[in-house]
Amino acid sequence: MTIVVAGSANVDFILRVGRLPQPNQTITGHDLAVAIGGKGLNQAVACARLGTVTKMVAAVGEDSFAGQALAYLKANGVDTRHVTALAGVATGVANIFVAEDAQNMIVVTPGANARLTPDMIDVAEPAIAEAQALIVQLETPLDAVRRALELARRHGVMTVLNPAPVQAGAEALFTLADLVTPNETELAALTGIEGQDDASLTRALQAVITAGAKQAVVTLGAQGCATLMDGHLVRVPAFMVVAVDATGAGDHFNGALVSRLILGEDLLAAIRYAAAASALSVTKASADSAATKAEVEAFLKS
Ligand code: ADP
Repeated sequence: MTIVVAGSANVDFILRVGRLPQPNQTITGHDLAVAIGGKGLNQAVACARLGTVTKMVAAVGEDSFAGQALAYLKANGVDTRHVTALAGVATGVANIFVAEDAQNMIVVTPGANARLTPDMIDVAEPAIAEAQALIVQLETPLDAVRRALELARRHGVMTVLNPAPVQAGAEALFTLADLVTPNETELAALTGIEGQDDASLTRALQAVITAGAKQAVVTLGAQGCATLMDGHLVRVPAFMVVAVDATGAGDHFNGALVSRLILGEDLLAAIRYAAAASALSVTKASADSAATKAEVEAFLKS
């Protein structure tokens, strides 16, 4: 049972500051954390930690950050054969300032992620063809995302689109997706339908399906998530935990959800497992917070 994740790999520099800087101001930060991230990489690691054979298709640069990202993927058992190192390009970087009042300021420089091409996806076709599922997000160019979805479809492989962050034209990919997994903000941006009440969520999820997706699940942070069953909204609550850092919760949710779906588990059971994996991840302060299979199983028994 294998999942291919095609998407971004970044190095995040998280700087803690008293207050966010103003234009032209120089301030002193008091703490720097370096974390390996990117939605694609996070989802690949989430799958691998849960015991799924995972292969990543991505582009990194030719710098020391690329080595760090590759080492992290390998240490987690992710197959990096289709991670291409591009000459003369920088690895994707996110510079994140977090102030004492928890406000943040983020500049993402996509670097090599913006150079992921349909040709690079084509090279990975044999890996996609052999997999049980493909997961893509939107931190890489849409033509590459589209090609990955098309190849998976051609080979009868389950296709999962996590439409994050929303890019113009993302809706055109829905016809290639067996499952679309936006968070609440992304669902509203994609459909123009705001609101977390049952009627709004039903209409918005239905709009995603009408646009061509076979199924959709919206994640609602601490409120859990919701999906449609025979046209009716079904909500699955989040597990009650003491949340420390919800960064990447959606990535852990997606990795876990698809890891269970490829085992043949039904959608609601897979969602429950994903809710457990992502709840565990938000209890950890470190960016390296993806849960292991043993941790999720222990949590579900507790
Ligand atoms: P994203 O990171 O994409 O914005 P969400 O914030 O919606 O995604 O979170 C994804 C999933 O993670 C939720 O559906 C929920 O199961 C879990 N989760 C997120 N925040 C919490 C929390 N505070 N407590 C428990 N589970 C949470």
